Amino acid sequence: MPTSVPFTGLQAQSQRLRAQIDENVARVIDHGKFIMGPEVAELEARLASFCGARNVISCANGTDALQIALMATGIGAGDRVFVPSFTYTATAEVILLLGARPVFVEVDPVSFNIDCDDLEARIAAEPASGNGAIIAVDLFGLPADWERLNEIARRHDLVLIADAAQSFGAALADGRMVGALAPITTTSFFPAKPLGCYGDGGAIMVEDDVLAERIRSIRVHGQGKAKYETVRVGVNSRLDTIQAAILLAKLDVFAEEIAARNALADRYAQLLDGLCELPVKPAGVTSAWAQYTVKIGDRDAVQQRLGALDVPTAVYYPLPMHLQPAYRSWGSGEGSLPVSEALSGKVLSLPMNPYWQEAEALRVAEALAEAAAPSALAV
Ligand SMILES: *Cc1c(COP(=O)(O)O)cnc(C)c1O
Repeated sequence: MPTSVPFTGLQAQSQRLRAQIDENVARVIDHGKFIMGPEVAELEARLASFCGARNVISCANGTDALQIALMATGIGAGDRVFVPSFTYTATAEVILLLGARPVFVEVDPVSFNIDCDDLEARIAAEPASGNGAIIAVDLFGLPADWERLNEIARRHDLVLIADAAQSFGAALADGRMVGALAPITTTSFFPAKPLGCYGDGGAIMVEDDVLAERIRSIRVHGQGKAKYETVRVGVNSRLDTIQAAILLAKLDVFAEEIAARNALADRYAQLLDGLCELPVKPAGVTSAWAQYTVKIGDRDAVQQRLGALDVPTAVYYPLPMHLQPAYRSWGSGEGSLPVSEALSGKVLSLPMNPYWQEAEALRVAEALAEAAAPSALAV
C-alpha cells in the first residue's frame, strides 16, 4: 500500500527551516520577553514591507483580527455587516459577537468570492441607517474584486474589511499585494494557512494611522498612553513573541513558497483538465493557494475513494453560513443563496504542498482519474 501524500507542506517546511526556527526560538527563551518582545515589532515591520501596508498590528489569531477591526471602526449593536455566505465560520461569528447584524451575500460560482452584483442588490434592499460594513473574503487565496469593492464601500459609506486569512502573499496583476488592497485587511497565522506559525496568530493591516493607533490600543485592553490607563473597552489579543520568532524564519522563504504553490496549481490545471471543474485565476494574478479547490459531481463518494487511495482531501465548506444552525435565523433559509448552497455540495480541496515534485502531482492526478470514474474501472 502506498504511503499517503501529505495534505500540506508543513512537514517538509519544518525540516527545511528547523535550524533557523530553533535558533530564533532559543533567542526568545534567552531574552525572556515572551510578551511583546522585540521579534513582534520586527515581524510587524517586515510584514509591512513585504505587502506594502502602511501599518501592521499583530494579534492573537485571525478571528480576533476581524473582531478588533470591527471594534475599531465602531461597528456594534444593530449595524449591518454584509458578508459572503460561503466562507469560514469566523467571518460571520465576529459580527454576531459584537451584536451587529450579518447580511449574507451570494458568491460567484467561479471565483468563490463575494458576488458584487448581489452585494449591491442587498445593500439597496437594506435600510441604510447607522453604521455599516462589508467584510469580503479572498477565499482559498484568490483576491476578491477589490477595485469594485472599494468603489461600492465608498459610494455607500460602508467600512470595508478584507478577510485575507487565506490570501496573505497573493498579488494582483499590477503587483499590488494583499494587505494593501483594502482600507483594513486581516489575516491569520494558523499553522495551515499559507503563512502559518506553530500555534495561533494573526495580524491587521491598516492604511489610516489614527485607526492603527486605536487597533493597537484595543489589542491590549483598550490601553491609553499610560500602561494602567484604560481609554476604551478592548481585548487581550497579543501575538506571542515565540510565534513571531517562528514567523520571521518562515517569512524568509514565503515568497518562494507562494511561487511554488502557483507552479503546482499550474501543473494541477494541466493534469486534472477534464476530470473536474478547475479553479480559475485571472491572468497575471498570484493566488496564495491556501487551498486548491475543484468542483466535482458525486463529491462525497469521490472523496472517500481518494482516501482509500491514500490521497487526503478536505471539504471547505460543507454548509454555507446562512444555513448554519447558529446563524440561520439571520438568513432566509434554503434556496435563498443557491450558488453558495450548490458549491457546498461540489467543492473538494486537494493537497497543496509547495515542496512537491512532479511525482506527487502525478499521483494525485492518477488517483483522481481513478476515483472519479470507478464504474469504468469496475467494468
Ligand atoms: C482561518 C480563517 C479565519 C480565522 O482565523 P483564526 O486564526 O483561525 O482565528 C477567518 N477567516 C477565514 C476566511 C479563515 O480561513
